[in-house]
Amino acid sequence: MKALIIGAGIGGMSAAAALKQQGIECDVFEAVKEIKPVGAALSIWSNGVKCMNHLGMGHIMDQLGGPMHNMAYQDGISGSVMTQFSLSPLVEAVGERPCPVSRADLQSMMVDSWGKENIQFGKRIEKVEQTEESVTAYFTDGSSATGDFMIAADGAHSKVRTHVIGYQAERRYAGYVNWNGLVDVDEDIAPDNQWTTFVAEGKRVSIMPVADKRFYFFFDVPLPTGLEEDRTTVIKDLTGYFQGWAEPVQKLISAINPETTNRIEIHDIDPFDTLVKGNIALLGDSAHNTTPDIGQGACSALEDSVVLGQCFAEHGAIESPADIEAVLKAYEEKRRFRVKDLVLKARKRCDVTHGANMAETQAWYDELKVEKGDKIIEGLRNTIINGPLG
Ligand code: FAD
Repeated sequence: MKALIIGAGIGGMSAAAALKQQGIECDVFEAVKEIKPVGAALSIWSNGVKCMNHLGMGHIMDQLGGPMHNMAYQDGISGSVMTQFSLSPLVEAVGERPCPVSRADLQSMMVDSWGKENIQFGKRIEKVEQTEESVTAYFTDGSSATGDFMIAADGAHSKVRTHVIGYQAERRYAGYVNWNGLVDVDEDIAPDNQWTTFVAEGKRVSIMPVADKRFYFFFDVPLPTGLEEDRTTVIKDLTGYFQGWAEPVQKLISAINPETTNRIEIHDIDPFDTLVKGNIALLGDSAHNTTPDIGQGACSALEDSVVLGQCFAEHGAIESPADIEAVLKAYEEKRRFRVKDLVLKARKRCDVTHGANMAETQAWYDELKVEKGDKIIEGLRNTIINGPLG
């Protein structure tokens, strides 16, 4: 039995690991010749870390995870602390720590864990054909590959998704722009063991420690789409949007390297129920594209992979194409409510954080000033424990 995996991102690489654990041979096809991740870093929450452990890649988290032990919100303008608390109760409650990681490092270690030589680069799928017995991927270079089933982990702009769900899913602009990158740790910006977030005016500036004494930072500003801004204007743009903000924010702006700072207009896609068509399954962003507001996009790709492996394990011997379809259907059934929930939760959080209704955003700022940590930790705990590994 052979699986075709389309895409060598976090979704594709974790799916390959999960299928390998079940003794299934995989051919992995990646569109680009060299993977260049869109963002600088990611927070892999405890549910994602549990999945990495389960998939035999826990050592990557140990090596890359930054020391994020506390969490704080500060007023963006005055810099005063609104709330500050330890994340230990969360770690105790869910049994695993969260790991902020450099995205490029994570991506490359996942590729290495699978074996770079076992990935076919420069293979961009443009068409898919399926019969009851097999599935064939056609690539833009004129080549093709046939397998018993396909895991389409080809990302937010998935080519395979339309074939599976039967319509072209439109990406929805979430109303804000995100700039992100890495800088050296500087305690005048934020403590080196804390996730620090400055909020005001429906904007936010966030700083998280990743390995090797670096901060992952991001700036969010509610803006229209299509502005003429890019890396060449980043310092001027951020200086303007954060004029009058507290000293640590100014210090961060002056520390960033425009050449390595990403500017992304944030989108998501209305959740859909169909993740599987016969012997083709969507996984990761192709199956559910969320805003990053609860840091669960990559975590849910990892969850998808764990569940995919579990479904094969639970089914037992695969003796016919119908068995494969049954396994993929079981995967769809186990995942669709969870991923829909995460996308909608993130959308709700996105609106409150980014001032979709400023009265609600102001009410949230007021709540933060009396927050002791329990409510935020309970929200995080809920998201985490509803994953496949509890
Ligand atoms: P991708 O990473 O997009 O990988 C898809 C792969 O498929 C790519 O390598 C691509 O080149 C390849 N491909 C595309 N088209 C084709 C084709 N036609 N043929 C063959 N190959 C193809 N998630 C978190 O869990 N925590 C966070 O803190 C977090 N922060 C984020 C911050 C930002 C600003 C953004 C934008 C996202 C964030 N996410 C976060 C979400 C996370 O980045 C994604 O959910 C995750 O990368 C999805 O992985 P994937 O493998 O499904 O897709």
